[in-house]
Amino acid sequence: MSGPLLGLDLGGTNIKVVLLVPDGDTFRAAGTWEYPTEAGEGPTHVADNLIRATRSHLGENSGIDRVGVGVPGLFHSATGVIELFPNLPGGWEGFPLGATIQHALGIPVTMVNDARAFTLAEGLVGAGKGFRIVACLTLGTGIGGGIMIDGQLHLGAFGVAGEIGHQIIDPDGPLCGCGNNGCVEAMSRADVLTALAGKESAEEVYRTASGGDAGSVAAIEAVAEALGIGLANVVTLIGPDRIVIGGGIADAGDLVLDPIRRTIRERVTLVPPERIDVVASQLGKWSGAHGAALAAAQPLTRDR
Ligand SMILES: [Zn+2]
Repeated sequence: MSGPLLGLDLGGTNIKVVLLVPDGDTFRAAGTWEYPTEAGEGPTHVADNLIRATRSHLGENSGIDRVGVGVPGLFHSATGVIELFPNLPGGWEGFPLGATIQHALGIPVTMVNDARAFTLAEGLVGAGKGFRIVACLTLGTGIGGGIMIDGQLHLGAFGVAGEIGHQIIDPDGPLCGCGNNGCVEAMSRADVLTALAGKESAEEVYRTASGGDAGSVAAIEAVAEALGIGLANVVTLIGPDRIVIGGGIADAGDLVLDPIRRTIRERVTLVPPERIDVVASQLGKWSGAHGAALAAAQPLTRDR
């Protein structure tokens, strides 16, 4: 058991920060904060904001001796050099984010992909707590994913395992941000949903769908089918005890979860349908920062 942990979640708009303190054999959140990312100012400025947000909590008596940072993309596991930040503006590729932060702070910094951080938090202390094999999906600007097995993130030989959103489900489908065609993400991310429904935002789609808007209901059904097919593959391949779904969509609840459940149960042939368990996340908007802090406590041997 370690001392207090600080977790940061780098988002496009805000940097969320959670302080975890030891509580028995686990941790509890003792405080949460938000700071502007100012992503438009570029990588160096954003790194400075991450450093400033961290420093304001590292007092003499804080006891914090390591920090976890959840980031929206892929990075080199050993060096913390950014490889792909598809949703933040500026020249991030090749930027040494991990080394920059660690050098400035002088304490160990663990970087983790934000969807994997979400998975760790929901799997250990959220909706997946107590389940052996947990698959997590975050729905938003992109589609994030993660797999937790026996309390450990499964990152695979290449450090990127768990990218549920980048399974190809239609080889002739639309281009994805990863360079492939027909990924789950390319057929279900927020801008696809809003375009299908002819609405301004995902929130508007959910709100109008609950009011009976046929176009919004059909858009949700289409997106849920892509997500359900991707998750059906996950069920067949790794057999999760529980699937946890979060991101902005979690607020829409069964309106979105029910068509996803229905598609998975239609598409999985090798598992009794009643065993397939799909629930909404529990930790809300702080799950990424919470998981980043937990990643700092866990010996994550590799992530990217
Ligand atoms: Zn993709």
